[in-house]
Amino acid sequence: MLPKSLRPLFPYMKKYRGSFAVGTLCVFLNNGIWILFPQVVRRAIGDLTDSIAHHRALTHQLISYAMLLLVVACGRGIFQFLTRWILIGVSREIEFDLRNDFFRHLESLSYSYYQRTRTGDIMARATNDLNAVRMLLGPAIMYSANTVVFTAGALAFMLSISPRLTLYAFLPLPIVSITIQYFGKQIHERFEKIQEMFSEISARAQENFSGARVIRAYVQEDPETAGFEAANREYIARSLPLVRLMGMLWPSLEAMLGFAIVLVLWLGGREVLQGRIKVEDFVAFNLYMVQLTFPIIALGWVINIFQRGTASMARINEILVERPEIADGVEATITSANAAGLEGEIEFRNLNFAYNGKPVLHDVNLRIPAGSSLAIVGPTGSGKTTLVSLIPRIYDAAPGSVLIDGRPVREYSLELLRANIGFIPQETFLFSESVRENIAFGKADASDAEVRSAAEAASIAEDIEGFPEKYRTLVGERGITLSGGQKQRTAIARAIIRNPRILVLDDALSSVDTHTEDKILNHLREVMQGRTTIFISHRVSTVRNADMIAVLHTGRVVELGTHAELIERNGYYTDLYNKQLLEEELAEV
Ligand code: ADP
Repeated sequence: MLPKSLRPLFPYMKKYRGSFAVGTLCVFLNNGIWILFPQVVRRAIGDLTDSIAHHRALTHQLISYAMLLLVVACGRGIFQFLTRWILIGVSREIEFDLRNDFFRHLESLSYSYYQRTRTGDIMARATNDLNAVRMLLGPAIMYSANTVVFTAGALAFMLSISPRLTLYAFLPLPIVSITIQYFGKQIHERFEKIQEMFSEISARAQENFSGARVIRAYVQEDPETAGFEAANREYIARSLPLVRLMGMLWPSLEAMLGFAIVLVLWLGGREVLQGRIKVEDFVAFNLYMVQLTFPIIALGWVINIFQRGTASMARINEILVERPEIADGVEATITSANAAGLEGEIEFRNLNFAYNGKPVLHDVNLRIPAGSSLAIVGPTGSGKTTLVSLIPRIYDAAPGSVLIDGRPVREYSLELLRANIGFIPQETFLFSESVRENIAFGKADASDAEVRSAAEAASIAEDIEGFPEKYRTLVGERGITLSGGQKQRTAIARAIIRNPRILVLDDALSSVDTHTEDKILNHLREVMQGRTTIFISHRVSTVRNADMIAVLHTGRVVELGTHAELIERNGYYTDLYNKQLLEEELAEV
């Protein structure tokens, strides 16, 4: 009975059924030849005893028997090599397919998945667990096939020599099977716990590297090291019992085999003495017992990797069964194939939104005409980011509550929708590639001129010209470190190059000073003329020029209007304005 967790592997194995068939043939040939070894020895000894009895010379026959043994050994060696080559090769191929599919699957999952899953955990599954699965597909299958075929063949020969002796030899079999089951279950459970801890260690390490700056700033290197050591110790604590268990498995199996050999020698020896079994048959029988040593020991190894593999496959499966929360539904009928693009009118209609039952937005009603600009202000946590995230469907609002050009966003294919929205999140992320590649990220065929004009529009061109290799300069881990403001502007250039109908800036200029933000936005305004722009900002000075300003407070739009209208109302916006005016005045003093 194969465990359920291995089911996802079947299609992969099916793909290589040809190789498996050839591999199996090699297993049969390899063992079929190897099984002849005791038969040759049996004949040789038979002839030898005959010749001793009849005082005949046997040199020539002995040489031919020796040659025959050599042929058997060589033939076996060749097929052993082929078996290994083919079956282990297939496991590498399946590992390759599985890894690709695993990655493709991870790419298909929604952003929210990555918010609730630790990167280190995913990495552990993609590396360590995948390897355990490969071991199952390769060596485990190969060695168990060998063991099964050889044992079956040997059994047939042993039965033909003496059914009674065979019975003695296989007397410990029930104990072997109980032992295997016991060890198998134990290994599986322990390995699950070990892998869990390995994920924990990986996640901890990964977070430590990503958070290197915070850890240094708070001088937490020692506590972090201690924390890691504790986790690492737990990992070892979980691993050592498995080592002990495995340490016991082999001697147990060997002891049982030894016990069988003792039985055979003792009970079989008596049969020989009583003349019921010939000496050569007895020798051949014992040779089979010796030949069975390795397959039986391999069995211990197979149990180990089989149990590890199934535990790991279950862990990989946990990710494979995840479905993207946001995907094209049946209603997504407007695609880039049948629509030219979007106009850019955005509407939130009676929008309520909650994260896992925690309400964040309440009854939001807003209409942003195509080509106009909306600024959103409001205190931290009032739901600004959430609101704009609903436009490109990073999160999904209730059907019909977010509309573009009068149609619910779900009616657009994600591809069309997102291609038309330039979204610049609060936290910018740049890849460890060149500046150019980072800007042209969403437009693989962008020309140099397009990259440059996007950089100019985002007011980053001048900075880039000053970099050592200009647009070819590598950024991030492999290259230069950009300032927060430079990163943000690069991210803006990345959004602009796709020429989107809708541009969303989520506080995307927080790292530049007010004056520069003003300058950049003025520039952007020219570039984005005729396009819909939504921007979130804390600074009144930058939002005042927007066609419309919405003030969000605890998830509700509490004020809406132009700068002049809102100042007139003398509410939250006026407060904010006065405060910032005061701050500016103080700064000038
Ligand atoms: P703002 O952008 O105005 O600072 P946000 O939209 O980021 O506000 O957050 C609004 C509220 O939603 C906050 O209380 C925040 O804790 C919560 N929130 C934001 N993102 C998530 C999330 N992914 N899961 C659960 N709650 C979230």
